[in-house]
Formats: sequence, structure tokens, C-alpha cells
Amino acid sequence: MNRNFLISVRRVPGLAFFLVSLLAIGLAIAVAGEAVADEAMASKTTTGKWDTLKTKYLTLTYENVEDLEAFNGKIDFSSDVSSFASFLNADQPSGTGIERTEFENEVIQKMDALVEKVQLILDMRKPINVIVKLYPDKTALQGAYFNIYKKKKQLRAWYIFEYNTIYLNVQDLFAEMFAHELAHAIVDNYLAVRPPRATAEILARYVDGHLRKKAKVY
Ligand SMILES: [Zn+2]
Repeated sequence: MNRNFLISVRRVPGLAFFLVSLLAIGLAIAVAGEAVADEAMASKTTTGKWDTLKTKYLTLTYENVEDLEAFNGKIDFSSDVSSFASFLNADQPSGTGIERTEFENEVIQKMDALVEKVQLILDMRKPINVIVKLYPDKTALQGAYFNIYKKKKQLRAWYIFEYNTIYLNVQDLFAEMFAHELAHAIVDNYLAVRPPRATAEILARYVDGHLRKKAKVY
């Protein structure tokens, strides 16, 4: 398996500079910096309109429903903890007026089961809502990277804590890769202080290596 996706937690560049600016010049600069970050976020959405599908834990965003279909096709996962999953799915909001297709329900069920498995492996269960941006191909994903970091890098997938977002290419994806990025999101949001990058990477690798195994209970 090509595991170069593992080097995949990205820090937003200029954050250190941003923090220094914050200290030196004060709150006004902080507000301006925030606006710049928002602009960077907006610019990578290209020209298209992004649709979203909200699950219990994720906000899946995509430009074309074909991308969501491709994403679903690549994530080969069914939960081995059905009682746990059904317990958590029991409180899905009902009567919200949102009519979902059978396909959307299938996606929601599968992705939430995957999140729950990652939470179970880590023993880090608390409510999360992570944005997952689905790009149709390698070029689009790399374009997104360039728009955020203003430099080129060939990553297969990554997670940005500051944007609470996972970036994926639906053509180059499998369940373990997604689980790995989910683990980063869960680990970074669970602890009061984010763990060192090496520690987080060890945890995320453990998760992707144990996704298909029965989660250990300690
Ligand atoms: Zn990683």
C-alpha cells in the first residue's frame, strides 16, 4: 500500500507569523488575519457551487453528486459494532423536513459508522462535526492545496485543524485513508491541548491499521 498519505496533517502557513502579529499589533490585526484566512478558504471553492450532505458527524461538501457517488464507492466499510452504531443512530434528528434519498441515507449510515469505529478504536467519543471536502481528481485536490498554502505539494489527503476540514480526492481514496484523516480530526479535537504531531501521527496510523479489527477495550 502506498502510505505517503500518512504525512498529512497540515498546519496553515503563516500561523506563527499570525500569532506574532497578534501579540505585537493587537486585536485589529487579528481580525484582519481572520479575513485573509476566510478569503483563502473561499478562493479554493473554484467557480462551482458546493452542495453539502450533513451526517451526524460530518459535513460532506462536493461540487457534483458524481463526486459524492465516487466517494461512497471508494469507502468500503461496514460496521462491526452494529449495536453501538444503532444506539448512536437512534437519535438522528427526525421531522427536520429534509427529504433524503436512499443513496444519501446509505452514505450517511456508512460514514457515521466509520467515524464511530475510529472513535471506538481511539476511545475518544465526543460530538464532532468535521467538514470533508471532496475533490473530483488529483488536479482539483492539488489546486485546493495551492490555494491554501500558495505552494505545490503532492499530498493524497490531508486535514487542517484550523479549518476543521479534511481534503480528499475521490479518485484516490480508500477507507483506511479516510479513517486516518478522521483520526487526526478526532484526536486534535478531543484533547484540551492538541498532541504533538508525532504523537497524533502514531495514533492516526494505529487507527488506519486497525480499522478492520475488533477494537480493543482497555
Ligand atoms: Zn497523518
